[in-house]
Amino acid sequence: MNIAEIFGQNIFSETVMKQWLPTKEFSEVMNVLQNGGQLSMQTADVVANAMKDWAVSKGATHYTHWFQPLTGITAEKHDSFLTPPVAGKTILKLTGKQLIMGEPDASSFPSGGLRSTHYARGYTAWDMTSPAFIKEQACGAVLCIPTVFVSFTGEALDNKTPLLRSMEALNEQTLRLLRLFGNTTSRKVIPSVGAEQEYFLVDRQKYLKHRDLIYTGRTLFGAKAPKGQELDDQYFGVIRERVGAYMKDLNEELWKMGITATTQHNEVAPAQHEMAPIFSDANVAVDQNQLAMETMKRVATQHDLVCLLHEKPYAGVNGSGKHNNWSINTDDGLRLLDPGPKPNENLQFQLILACIIKAVDTHADLLRNTAACPGNDHRLGAQEAPPAIVSIFLGDQLGDLVEQITHSGVAAGVLQSGKLDTGVSTLPVINKDATDRNRTSPFAFTGNKFEFRMVGSSDSVANANTALNTIVAEAFCEAADILEQSKDFVHDAKTLVAKYMILHSGVIFNGNGYSDEWVAEAARRGLPNLKSMVEAIPALTTEKSVALFEKFGIFTRAELESREEVMYETYAKTVHIEAQTMIHMAGKHYIPTVIQFVTGLANSINAVKAACPTADVTTQQDLLTRCSDLLAETHEALADLEKAVTETMALENVPEMANAFHDRVIPAMAALRSPVDELELLVDKDIWPVPTYGDLMFEV
Ligand code: ADP
Ligand code: MG
Repeated sequence: MNIAEIFGQNIFSETVMKQWLPTKEFSEVMNVLQNGGQLSMQTADVVANAMKDWAVSKGATHYTHWFQPLTGITAEKHDSFLTPPVAGKTILKLTGKQLIMGEPDASSFPSGGLRSTHYARGYTAWDMTSPAFIKEQACGAVLCIPTVFVSFTGEALDNKTPLLRSMEALNEQTLRLLRLFGNTTSRKVIPSVGAEQEYFLVDRQKYLKHRDLIYTGRTLFGAKAPKGQELDDQYFGVIRERVGAYMKDLNEELWKMGITATTQHNEVAPAQHEMAPIFSDANVAVDQNQLAMETMKRVATQHDLVCLLHEKPYAGVNGSGKHNNWSINTDDGLRLLDPGPKPNENLQFQLILACIIKAVDTHADLLRNTAACPGNDHRLGAQEAPPAIVSIFLGDQLGDLVEQITHSGVAAGVLQSGKLDTGVSTLPVINKDATDRNRTSPFAFTGNKFEFRMVGSSDSVANANTALNTIVAEAFCEAADILEQSKDFVHDAKTLVAKYMILHSGVIFNGNGYSDEWVAEAARRGLPNLKSMVEAIPALTTEKSVALFEKFGIFTRAELESREEVMYETYAKTVHIEAQTMIHMAGKHYIPTVIQFVTGLANSINAVKAACPTADVTTQQDLLTRCSDLLAETHEALADLEKAVTETMALENVPEMANAFHDRVIPAMAALRSPVDELELLVDKDIWPVPTYGDLMFEV
């Protein structure tokens, strides 16, 4: 396989456009892409026609507006290029109007109350900044046109619109700062994102026997396997052949659609892996991550595997996240988060850093909110995942820089990275990275970017980036407001850097984020520790959050309130489905199996005693007693869970219901799981109704 040949063959890229569009229209498209604005309808017609011709030449039969509603996944409705035949001749068509706008029925997508106050209508509108692409799937090749999804009155019904709005806000505010530092050449500031995607693979036939995996994406029962991740033998281990074959096909599919899948490796847990693309503009990265997730699932099926994107498919082993690498760069190639060789003399970098520290400290609760999804509740704070407390890791060099500034107002020197001595004369001398790593931090500086590690593996990275862009735009805006009035810029900028660092250094933590001491220390520092999704949801609509988003035109209060409601609904529905699945599995699978097992034991005791009255049957009797006790416990826990679900579902207020699911139903689920998991270790494996953790994780 030659990567260069297949890479991007299914995207309507700049090169393809140049080839398929007349010069005039091509220039008009490029102009809008670079400077914003809109295409004329005539040009849109020409572009649409070229796009259709190109897609048809690639075997596409349909097109679709591809968008990202608040379900967290993508949506598409295919329309063929067919038009009514003219004089018996088939004509294929895509008009400018069809390209630019669509009107799917908005009423079936979550809108969190926006629908009741406004019209049910929703519109999709072409987002030119993300290239159209062709998706090859079993139903044929489909031309996908990336779009935003908004209501009749212009409210965002998707995750993409606010992201684009936030990118514009960050662009505007960063340019103000750059101008203050005398930069007159950069014309555009763009946040870049590289989203590392973790996932599990499981054999499809075993998966199909687990109703919990099918309905909820995670195992709701299952005893620990004799072996887990304790030997650290899986991380970066040799990739098994079956998994390797999957990765090879996945890469090829992603490359065709212009997704730069580049890194692949085994992750910490057995059967857990990671794929990372090369970073790109935030909006493109968000689209591509959605597309990557879809593709990962699709390709898995072709290998009789299932790709699990849930944050915690298996209890007790590493969960899956999405490390969101984020940086700010300019159109003329400046990396604004690069400290350079002498950060102590780089006032622009210091101010940017101080503003980011301030932004993260001020809006820690909001950032936490953007990583809130039901699955992440099981991941955050457990087995090798960052805690639910937002803090910043800066590393030795920048940590020292901030310390110097907070203590004496200036940084006299800078810690340099040393050489790494291996003690072997034939090995090269390696320069150590001055920005070392701390895997335990939720928000870590890594060289020339920050890595936000809280987002869940199944979640879209759109919200995290919308929030990051906006909180940083706010901090830049406040700094620019002050410094644009300054008579002594350098002096005042230095003062501001010191002020922000002194006020907000409480959010910096370079130690072990997994430790209990940190939880206690964070509480002393007053940092929010929002352990669950329901605790993190209200951060979206605090007065602080509303003021932030309204100031930059990212969300109106109504949009935020609607999103808050969607989050509560999502949580309640997810836990409800999980509880129902447990009730089903306990009643239909586990209890009947255990009854069968104990009956067999009782019969065996009677048979042995009849055959040999003096035989010692205490083993069977002990087992029978233990299993019968656990069976009774299961029965009781099942009844409790049913009652908890019924009473929770009777609540009318959605936030109250979501909280009750968290406070009452989740513990009742744990109480049901416990005896069943214990029984799994006692009951004959041949009759146990589902594959065990060992089967699922070690037989891929
Ligand atoms: P690691 O797992 O060691 O953190 P990976 O190579 O798996 O590193 O992933 C790092 C991710 O960060 C990649 O997606 C990479 O493209 C992205 N990245 C690198 N530099 C930047 C940058 N300046 N801005 C945004 N993302 C970046
Ligand atoms: Mg990685």
